[in-house]
Amino acid sequence: MRESNASAIDERDVLDAIARAFEQGSVSVISGAGVSTDSGIPDYRGLGSRQRQTITIDDFLGSRRARAHYWLRAHRGWSRFANALPNQGHRVLADLEQAGMLTGLVTQNVDGLHRLAGNRHVIELHGSLGNVVCVSCGQQFSRTDIHSAMVDANPWLNDLSPDFDIDLETNDSISSLTGSLSIPDCSVCAGVLKPDVVFFGESVPVRTYSAARETISRSKTLLVVGSSLAVNSAVRLVQTARKSRIPVFIVNRGKTHLDHVATGKVNLGASEVLSQLAASLEVSAVLEDIE
Ligand SMILES: [Zn+2]
Repeated sequence: MRESNASAIDERDVLDAIARAFEQGSVSVISGAGVSTDSGIPDYRGLGSRQRQTITIDDFLGSRRARAHYWLRAHRGWSRFANALPNQGHRVLADLEQAGMLTGLVTQNVDGLHRLAGNRHVIELHGSLGNVVCVSCGQQFSRTDIHSAMVDANPWLNDLSPDFDIDLETNDSISSLTGSLSIPDCSVCAGVLKPDVVFFGESVPVRTYSAARETISRSKTLLVVGSSLAVNSAVRLVQTARKSRIPVFIVNRGKTHLDHVATGKVNLGASEVLSQLAASLEVSAVLEDIE
């Protein structure tokens, strides 16, 4: 009993400390999947889904069949992504940036919702599912255009049942589907197209990682929101901050891999905590939302 009271008080102190840091400005944020769950997005790897077989970059580049399987599975996932909207947590982060309190946002999410909410200084550590890139010539394409091209080339995609993504894992007829799927190539060089996200087996591009590190190094405080810090690149960014003696606060429902190095931890959901922060900082747009 005493312990739980102590921890509740600790969390209020941590929330106050985070609010004070924002008041002083120069806070950088690392956001993770927990920020997007209230927008109905489980995890970006959810497109290929964690529970299922995971495709690596070598599989994807090495076999047409693996690519067809990926695009088929991602086809349904994309519809969910394309319709997702920013939630309260995203909007608070956008308001904090507009109020000059947030200097940079590094996200592990690939859903593009921070930009959609209005954040301008966003570094997408793992890329964006909204973009498609040619692995041969580097030409970029919009995912929406590639999605349409795929439907045009495979009209039967419109007739797939709502349980299609489950069927994919269990139904033997999937072989014939992947066999007959026409997947778009690069219109410039006919090279292989790939969603512009970091696949398993790939590293965060050096330039992206450096930009993230620089953003965090320039800030006075780092706030991690909605990430369990299970991915190496994010872990290294937090460790870099700690080495530079930058205070690190973590807001995440559940344990993270770096709770032990955090200056303070709040074990609550991202939207809930960000809304409380917005209220105590009197960030106006959000207050209107709460009312
Ligand atoms: Zn190309």
